[in-house]
Amino acid sequence: MQNKRLAKWIQDHTEMLGSTDREEDQALHAALFEGIIEMALNGETRLVNSVLESAAAHAVAVGRPLTHLLGVPQRLRERIWQRIGEEVDPEPAFMMLAAVDVMFVHIIRVTIDAYEEATKLATAAKATEISRLYAESERKVMEYTAEVARANRELARLEQAKTDFISIAAHELKTPLTLIQGYANILRDILTDERAIPLADGIRRGSERMGTIIEDMLDLSAIDTNRLSLFLEPVNLNKTIRLIIRQLEPTLQERKQTLQTVGLDTLPTIEADTYRLHQVFAQLINNAIKYTPDGGTINVIGQILEANKKMPACVRITVQDTGVGIAPEDREKIFEKFYRVGSSDLHSTGHTKFMGAGPGLGLTIVKGLVEAHQGRIVAESQGFDIQNCPGSAFIVTLPIEAMPRPGLQVTRLPKVAETAETASRTTPP
Ligand code: ADP
Repeated sequence: MQNKRLAKWIQDHTEMLGSTDREEDQALHAALFEGIIEMALNGETRLVNSVLESAAAHAVAVGRPLTHLLGVPQRLRERIWQRIGEEVDPEPAFMMLAAVDVMFVHIIRVTIDAYEEATKLATAAKATEISRLYAESERKVMEYTAEVARANRELARLEQAKTDFISIAAHELKTPLTLIQGYANILRDILTDERAIPLADGIRRGSERMGTIIEDMLDLSAIDTNRLSLFLEPVNLNKTIRLIIRQLEPTLQERKQTLQTVGLDTLPTIEADTYRLHQVFAQLINNAIKYTPDGGTINVIGQILEANKKMPACVRITVQDTGVGIAPEDREKIFEKFYRVGSSDLHSTGHTKFMGAGPGLGLTIVKGLVEAHQGRIVAESQGFDIQNCPGSAFIVTLPIEAMPRPGLQVTRLPKVAETAETASRTTPP
């Protein structure tokens, strides 16, 4: 490959040979030219090899085909051949051209090898990159899964803490409250000053309301922890609901609302917990009163549902009102504990006042109690509209023959229609 004469000739023709028509090939052309001089001068191929290797790597990286890359040394060789043929005497020209061809055979071979190698590396790099991305996404999925599991554990812990808090707070408050109620009653009886009587009554009413909230908290914690006890006995829903209506009569009159019943007297006796069902329908009717403006109408409708493949024979009680209604997005959320629709500014205070807010436990307990009987409750409404009052309907389905939820403590009371105990337990809290 070494040819001092050729080396000198090429060096003398730097101007002529060191240029190319293609702009993008200029750098490779010039570097190759230097490499050829080095080869011809010292027989040293390192420079030309590294030039070709980096050109091949670049060509592969930018997606340039091998034929395109080989065009650069080929055009350089043609030019050298042409010039030597024109300028050099035949005999030395022959030697020089032989040396040129040996060098270009080397250049072509190295270019092809380097291109193949660069292609392999690029494929391997792509595969490595793909497996790296895969490993990374797998790691991320694992991280997210762990994160979600951690968040779920934390949620469960918070939920448990909330249940514990409700249970402890309710138990702790119950004793002092019973004392307050007792003393308020005594005070009411022994007071001689007329002006003090309304004050004692106020204390009694306030502590009764607090007592109801504490009972709700205790019920909620019993439902949450599946510690609810059911006392099953034959229940006449017509009687139970009529008792509730009687108890709510003064409120209905005060709110100038009409309450109608349909089909309740056709309902069969069902096996259930009277006290708990009293609680369910008292809450639903009380809510219907609260969320219906003065002068509105409430319907309580009883129906029998025949047994089918999916469910046993049931009764269905619908408490329908002409009130403010419920937005679609709230229809399920209202059964969650402490959930109240809208901001608290929308609500007034009071047990039966229009839009009177409670702690948001009523429907949660209702749902828990209905489901403890393996029943179902759903809310239906066209939407929430305080001006036009589209109304709501709460539909409760209960099996006629008791089939309480597994895990509950169930006591079956003797089938005596109205024992003294039953009668006393039907009295609302
Ligand atoms: P609260 O103690 O706030 O009345 P509930 O659990 O009984 O709590 O009810 C939850 C929410 O469901 C209420 O704040 C109210 O927005 C909505 N709601 C319940 N009953 C009715 C009804 N009959 N009509 C319209 N909205 C109702």
